[in-house]
Amino acid sequence: MTEFDLIRTYFGDLGSRRTDVLLGVGDDGAVVQPPAGQTLVLATDCLVDAVHFPKDAPVDAIGEKALAVNLSDLAAMGAQPAWFQLVLTLPKADQQWLRQFATGLGRVARYHQMRLVGGDTARGPLNVTVQVAGLAPPGAALRRCGARPGDAIVVSGTLGDAALGLDLWRGRADRDDPDVAFLLNRLHRPTPRVSLGQALRGRATAAVDISDGLAADLGHILSASGLGATVDVDRLPLSEPGLRFGGRERQWGGALAGGDDYELCFTMPPSRLHELDAIASRLGVSLTRIGYIQPQPGLRLVRGDRTPVTLAACGYSHFPEHR
Ligand code: ADP
Ligand code: MG
Repeated sequence: MTEFDLIRTYFGDLGSRRTDVLLGVGDDGAVVQPPAGQTLVLATDCLVDAVHFPKDAPVDAIGEKALAVNLSDLAAMGAQPAWFQLVLTLPKADQQWLRQFATGLGRVARYHQMRLVGGDTARGPLNVTVQVAGLAPPGAALRRCGARPGDAIVVSGTLGDAALGLDLWRGRADRDDPDVAFLLNRLHRPTPRVSLGQALRGRATAAVDISDGLAADLGHILSASGLGATVDVDRLPLSEPGLRFGGRERQWGGALAGGDDYELCFTMPPSRLHELDAIASRLGVSLTRIGYIQPQPGLRLVRGDRTPVTLAACGYSHFPEHR
């Protein structure tokens, strides 16, 4: 199979067909037609073998995750996904690997009505780089910099599951156990909060996706906004399987510093908080208030009774390999 056959077979017709793709895979470049008056939001992320996924990760999950982590960036910007490109370096043209990879990638692409419009393919160590393009009305994209003192800090879903999933994967936990399966899915097949991001346009004052742990990613909002925050660790949303296998303190550590959760963290003025319940139930995602923005820089962690806690006391030092 030549390189061109390979590209045509696996990547020539991937994702949803879109009428705004005037020219897709096969020429020197792609031609797309953004709707009049919309801005383009661009993001890119690479996955490196054994760094961003375990060597023995399911191959279709590598395809899913490569697009999902990029969709999470579009979600954090409040953008509507449209097109993407794929840069793939592979040690060899393994047909079974390519089929499974394209299956996972195509599944996520179709779910989000995205079209693969181009890329590049070369021989080399396994590396998967995706660039996504999304749409947002002018000025509507969510930023990291707009938080204000008094804003509430809200996170979607549950945190700390992916870090625990990685330990369970490495420890060869029983994959037939439904709680283990849930945690492994949270690691291998993240759920980018794309609809939530769009629902937050004009509502959230700042937003970020949680890819490196809440402490680091909320930290981006705080430094971009020139502000600080207090977070109540007792309010961190933890899953039942996470509590069963990890325990509360360990899951605090995973939530704050574990990474790979791909939930959204955003800030919202108190006057808008009454809108959260309707958004959460319409989108079927839990939204939890965990703290508030303050003028004094820095991130302060407290218990429900307001006593201060440290990252280390939240179990962070128990698994430094996740950093
Ligand atoms: P060129 O040499 O002009 O850069 P390539 O041979 O790299 O062209 O690619 C041929 C066509 O296949 C282009 O349209 C390119 O966008 C597309 N393509 C190459 N690799 C991929 C890939 N991994 N996924 C999607 N499209 C790809
Ligand atoms: Mg090329």
